[in-house]
Amino acid sequence: MFLLLLTTRTGAGIGQLSLLGFDGPFQRRTLFEQALLHLVREANRARYCQNPDCPAPYFFAARRSQKYCSDICALPAQREFKGRWWVEHGNRWREQRPKARTTRVQKKRGG
Ligand SMILES: [Zn+2]
Repeated sequence: MFLLLLTTRTGAGIGQLSLLGFDGPFQRRTLFEQALLHLVREANRARYCQNPDCPAPYFFAARRSQKYCSDICALPAQREFKGRWWVEHGNRWREQRPKARTTRVQKKRGG
């Protein structure tokens, strides 16, 4: 155990001694504990970037409705949103405007 302690100390360079209680109570937090505390405190703002190509998708939102870590990540999604709008509403929109030509009209077969 002592050997292990020494190797972790030299390896990480963080106050491992205090963590194990040799040196009084927990005086110094490990990086992991700090990160965890930050996450708990800011949990309501913790987000996962909705851009599947995002290089670093975990972030803390500045606005409540923020879905993307940056404008760069939001751009392709806005383009996709427009594309999806056309898929969902395009047919209706085309129906409502005067027909120039019909390509997919199926005639009812008699019988
Ligand atoms: Zn992102």
